[in-house]
Amino acid sequence: MKRAASIQLHPEALRHNLAVARRLAPGVPMWSVVKAEGYGHGLLWTAEALAGATDGLAVSQVGEARVLREAGFGGPLLVLQGPRDAAETRACHELGLEPAIHEVAQLDHLDAASVRLPSVWVKLNTGMNRLGFDPLDAEAVARRLGAAGHGGVGLHWMTHLACADEPEHPLNAHQLERFGSVVASLPGQASVANSAALFAGWGRAPGLGSARACWARPGIMLYGAHPASVPPEAPPEGPQADLRPAMTVQAPIIAIQPLEPGSTVGYGATWTAAAPGRAGIVAMGYADGYPRHAPSGTPVRVGDRLCPLIGRVSMDMLAVDLSGVADARVGDRATLWGEGLPVERVARAAGTISYELLTRVADRLQPVR
Ligand SMILES: *Cc1c(COP(=O)(O)O)cnc(C)c1O
Repeated sequence: MKRAASIQLHPEALRHNLAVARRLAPGVPMWSVVKAEGYGHGLLWTAEALAGATDGLAVSQVGEARVLREAGFGGPLLVLQGPRDAAETRACHELGLEPAIHEVAQLDHLDAASVRLPSVWVKLNTGMNRLGFDPLDAEAVARRLGAAGHGGVGLHWMTHLACADEPEHPLNAHQLERFGSVVASLPGQASVANSAALFAGWGRAPGLGSARACWARPGIMLYGAHPASVPPEAPPEGPQADLRPAMTVQAPIIAIQPLEPGSTVGYGATWTAAAPGRAGIVAMGYADGYPRHAPSGTPVRVGDRLCPLIGRVSMDMLAVDLSGVADARVGDRATLWGEGLPVERVARAAGTISYELLTRVADRLQPVR
């Protein structure tokens, strides 16, 4: 059952944001990251919007890559978590995927699959301690892959930064140094940068020289959101200000309640009116993907005004203070995030990150094309 709440996607915004990424790292090819259903925008919709503009797409799992191939995407596909078993390794071969290989168990899968993967990305753990081989083992891994006939077209190197959204954090320098010191003497291409690292100027892995072929891996910025885990209160400046939202979520006002001083709103009566006013009831709740823990004061756009959320978010509804918008009526559409209200502002108010809001948006929202 679709809801009155709607999700509108803006394909031109994705292409525009990809162009912003390219300006940040001229000449660096882009793996556009479309994991988690294209950060909630839809895997195929995102792939279609970026087709012809991106150099390749990056997904988490082999299954996602298969969906893209079956839909006709013929370009390079990076699989960030690589194959889980020998069957997935054979699928990588069959579908022409470029898997990340980050774990010894995967080297065994590669042996068991008895196929030769032409292009492989070896992931090195330089300090995030999530996925990847110890950089000291890089050469041994390369030897084993080479001996088994993998990497005929290329054996490449990647790592992931834990704190790229805080460029001054000392772990960045440490990770970049560890990656550069090992990879500098090995052949193959390199890939370091997510969105935040692109903004930090690390699209071309520092320490590898400007001649080294590098790929970047932007995700969140393509969807128009700020990569910082704690987005700034003030609107961003520079290239970040140039990002455009790829998703706008709206829902209608379905009721308006007059409020007297002392009136409370919603479950738990957590918000109390200090003055006479009006509460607008918006048909969007936590079952639609709006964060239940968003506190009173979280911005919601009504017309050209930002109104504070008031009281607790319900399953299918939330309330906003309409005191500032005298002309708001039942049937008007409120914007929860997107055009006119950056998702990171809502995320910040709700104590989360834009990534979570975008990827949690419910399927039951009505798509607007
Ligand atoms: C998700 C992911 C990215 C993209 O990160 P953003 O912060 O969304 O730009 C890049 N690389 C890896 C390994 C990832 O998992």
